[in-house]
Amino acid sequence: MSEPSATGWDHTFDLVIVGSGAGAMTAGVVAHDRGAKALLVEKSNRYGGSSAMSGGSLWVPCNHLMAEAGIEDDPEDAMAYLREITAGLVPEEKLQKFVDEASNALQYISDHANVNAQVMNESGDVIPGLYAVGNCSSPVMGRTYAGAGATLGPATTFAYVAARHAIPES
Ligand SMILES: Cc1cc2nc3c(=O)[nH]c(=O)nc-3n(C[C@H](O)[C@H](O)[C@H](O)COP(=O)(O)OP(=O)(O)OC[C@H]3O[C@@H](n4cnc5c(N)ncnc54)[C@H](O)[C@@H]3O)c2cc1C
Repeated sequence: MSEPSATGWDHTFDLVIVGSGAGAMTAGVVAHDRGAKALLVEKSNRYGGSSAMSGGSLWVPCNHLMAEAGIEDDPEDAMAYLREITAGLVPEEKLQKFVDEASNALQYISDHANVNAQVMNESGDVIPGLYAVGNCSSPVMGRTYAGAGATLGPATTFAYVAARHAIPES
């Protein structure tokens, strides 16, 4: 990454993404593929965040790779597991969104390679145009860390959902 420039710059983007971890990168790829001009802003001198240092294990319930390998999975089992470990702290619709979209997100990234995730104010009103994914958002696992794969799967899933919500299909 180049050193910051002392000269000013003036550009317009459809989507500005703060950070460059798995969540941010996924949002960038999805937004780009939808025809948007997206900017990733990274504060450190390296891309990738803790995602780049991770073991890379993703928990993606009912994913297509399992299905291809003949392994059965049940969305209701995933929901039961999430309900158990989050103990009522995470809204049911967020858990359901993750279970519904996780496999789509993995499939999308798999196919291109190489969750609406909107931020609300204290009154619970949506702040238009502002999305949060990855570790800067309320985690789908509540206050627990269920083990390897517990954060990268949700980060990727909600980045996929957020970018698709922010940039409608043209
Ligand atoms: C050694 C290790 C192994 C791990 N293994 C696994 C694993 O196997 N499976 C799993 O699910 N999880 C694992 N984790 C946890 C996982 O890596 C993180 O939870 C996940 O990478 C977080 O992704 P993210 O997209 O939220 O953000 P990150 O990858 O943390 O990226 C955030 C980025 O945002 C940047 N940033 C922050 N603030 C600003 C700002 N104001 N302006 C600009 N940029 C900013 C940061 O510099 C950083 O680059 C591991 C973690 C570690 C440390």
